[in-house]
Parts: sequence; C-alpha cells; structure tokens
Amino acid sequence: MQDSELLEKIAQVLKRENLNNNRLINHQSVVELTEILDLDKQSTQDWAQLFVWVQQYLDYSPDTSHIGFANRMWSGANMPSVLGEIIAAFSNTSACTFESAPVATLMETYMLKQMLEIVGFKNGEGQMTTGSSNANMIAMMVARNQTLNSVKTQGLFTQKPLFAFVSEDAHYSLDKAANILGIGTEHLIKVPTNKNAKMDVLALDKAIQKVQKNGGIAFFVCATLGTTVRGAYDDIEALLKLKNKHHFWLHGDGAWGGAAIMSSALKTKFLSGIEQLDSFTMDFHKMLGSSLMCNFLLLNHQNLLSCTCADGDNSYIFRDNAVDLGASSLQCGRRVDSLKWFLDWKFYNKQGFSDRVESYYQLAKFAEDFIDRSGELETVERRNSFNVCFRFKAQNSNAFNQNLRHQLLIEEQALFALAYIGDKLVFRLLISNNNIDKVKLTALLNRLIKVGKVLEKNA
Ligand SMILES: *Cc1c(COP(=O)(O)O)cnc(C)c1O
Repeated sequence: MQDSELLEKIAQVLKRENLNNNRLINHQSVVELTEILDLDKQSTQDWAQLFVWVQQYLDYSPDTSHIGFANRMWSGANMPSVLGEIIAAFSNTSACTFESAPVATLMETYMLKQMLEIVGFKNGEGQMTTGSSNANMIAMMVARNQTLNSVKTQGLFTQKPLFAFVSEDAHYSLDKAANILGIGTEHLIKVPTNKNAKMDVLALDKAIQKVQKNGGIAFFVCATLGTTVRGAYDDIEALLKLKNKHHFWLHGDGAWGGAAIMSSALKTKFLSGIEQLDSFTMDFHKMLGSSLMCNFLLLNHQNLLSCTCADGDNSYIFRDNAVDLGASSLQCGRRVDSLKWFLDWKFYNKQGFSDRVESYYQLAKFAEDFIDRSGELETVERRNSFNVCFRFKAQNSNAFNQNLRHQLLIEEQALFALAYIGDKLVFRLLISNNNIDKVKLTALLNRLIKVGKVLEKNA
C-alpha cells in the first residue's frame, strides 16, 4: 500500500461513526474475544487483514470518551495531544538526545520550566517519565542516593536500614518502588489516616522515632496529593514541620489530584506549601486529559537527576549532557511525549486547565448533592475533593453493588470503578471527561438507579 493510500485509510477508520458508533463497549468474554480475533491467522504482506484487526481493536475496546466510561482516572483525550501522538508515531524518534529529537527536547525543557514556575520550585529541575509509578520510584531513588552516599557503588549491603513512609491509602507504586530499590516492602511503613483520610502526622512522627530508636534511617516520606480512592490530600504544611525535625526527603504524589495546581483557588485549598516539597509528580494524562502517557517529575534541587540516574559508559550516545534529556533518565530510548504535552498546553493554556479542574470540582459536589438527595444512593464517607464514593442502598450491600456494576456493564450502560473503603464496596466516581456536564451526569446516575431498582426487584 502507498503511503498516501494508507493515510486515507487511517482517516477513514478514525471517522467517528466508524470508531464505536457511540457505543460504550461491546463486551465479550476472554474466550469469545479470542475466538473472534483469530490471532493465529497468517497475514504476510496483507494490509486488508491488518485493517480487519484494526477495526476489531476499535470495535471491542471501550469508548473511553463516552460519558458512561467512569472507570478510571482519565477518559477520552484532548485532540491537540492526539495530534501530537500521531505525529510522534510517524516521525518515530527517541527523545534522548538533541540530535535525534531537537524540537521535542526544546519543548520538553520549555514545559518543565513552565511547571517548575507553576509549582514554585525556584531552582529546580525535572523530566518527563513513563508515569507517576515510575516518577515515584525515581523520587525515592534520588532520596536514597542523597541519604547514603555510597549506595550507587556499594549497594545497600553494608548500610544502615532505610525506611520510607506513606499513608495507608497511598498508591501501590510506592510498594513497587521499595521493592525495586532494595528498600524492602516491609521497610515501607504505612501510616494510619485520620478522620479526614489524610496521613496522621502524629502517628508518622511516632513511627519515625521508633525506626530511629532501632538504628534505622527515616529517609523518605511521600505525601499523597489526592489519594486514589478517597481523594484525600495529605497535609503538606504539617509534614514540612516534621521534615524540619527529622530531615527526610518529602515527595508529593500528585498523579491524580496534583492537577489542582492549575487553579489558584484549589491550589490554596489543597496544595498549600507545595513549593517547599523536595519533589513532586503529576500525570497530565489523568484529570487534564492529555493522551496516555503524559507525566512529569520535578525536583526542588538541581543536578540530582543526572548524578542519581546516570551510570556506565554512555559516551557513544550523548553529546551534551546539559541538553540531552536522556542523560538524566533511567531509560535509554525515550518516547516523544513532549509534543502532545506542548500542543495541549498551547491550545488550552493554564486558564483552560484551571477552568477544567474547577468545573470537575463543582461537578463532584453536584454529584454528591444528587446522591444525598436521592433515596436510593448513599455516600459512605463525605467527599474530600474530587472523588465521590457511593453505593446503592441494599441488603447485602457489597454483593449487590458488585452485581449492579456487572449489570451496568453487560447492558452497556456504564463502566464504573469499584473500590473498597474499609470493608465497604463502593462505586468510585471520578470526573475526568471534558464533555460531561450536570445534565449528562444526572442521566448517568439516574441510569445507575434505574438498573439498581430492577436488580432489587428481581432479588
Ligand atoms: C494513578 C496514580 C499513580 C500511578 O500513575 P501511573 O501514571 O499510572 O503510573 C500513582 N499515584 C497515584 C496517587 C495515582 O492516582
């Protein structure tokens, strides 16, 4: 197939009506879908068959821009970022050196500077990473290497034991980081939360003192800025006070809730003191809608990324360590994620993203009010920020709500996230769809109630 013909075909496939027919999901079991796809089929030099698989890929993927897709921390994608993704795929280069990706390098550097300014890190540095899981790990790694000067060459073998601290509601990527970095998951202390679902700072102080008394080093505390289920923001100001006492590295995991930084009102409400953190990460592909993956990590320090991450003889690749972004990365090849990020930023700018997070915040409040007023639904805890956790009131609540979710899925009405708060199974509503408004949100919740009532009657 000629390039021009291929491009035309792609444009045709991507037309809205061919994408998903506005259908949320065509749900098939693993067995059924395996049968349909016929992945063993031969297709050497056979473009037509490739396009059959492409169409199947689209037909059986959930339409994440559908209002009923309320499953994850993202939905759909901003079109400027989609444009960036497509161009990046066609140009196919690696953002490791200026030579191989000159424009992407300058765009990434530019965007990091914008973010450093917005967060308030005056003499900072940063990099795009593959996601917040990775960024949390790199932050912990920088802190580890700052604490133990010889860890890079000697490993952890002869060192005092290190301990890291997170809220019990922190993201599981911190456990992975403790595993990967040789800290050990039992050295990741899960601090209880208080009644507002924030890390209990008094309990943290006690836990740190206990570790120190036993000869350990409390080197790293991660403040979750928007917890995955309950949407709580750990108290940065209180943690900064404790940092003065114990001198740990204070990282902020803002993967989801860090987006509040775009609005000055929400920044004041949830992120006060953020400019004094040692490091901060945020996913642009979650609340702010850039296409997956789009993440940055910022340090409130300079030259630590390169001295932590660079190892071995890389002289064959890097020409200028001050410019080549790969020199301070854990990766060798790096996807061009900056083009889509830059295009989104230029299209919406800070004001546009501020309007967006403020509207999501209002919609979360609207959803909570709707739930409070409805006879059928209830929240199990008050909303902390953007996350609305609720359930259908029923006998045998966990089993019923599990069933209700499944029913909504097989009826192709909605794909909702479920999560546990203690032993209570709840729907976790996160608003991250730029097309949603009060009318559509009301319709979505009413659909849930309607299906729930039928289920209740048939129980
Ligand atoms: C989503 C999330 C992560 C993981 O981010 P990825 O970019 O998916 O790796 C980490 N922490 C929190 C609080 C999150 O919500």
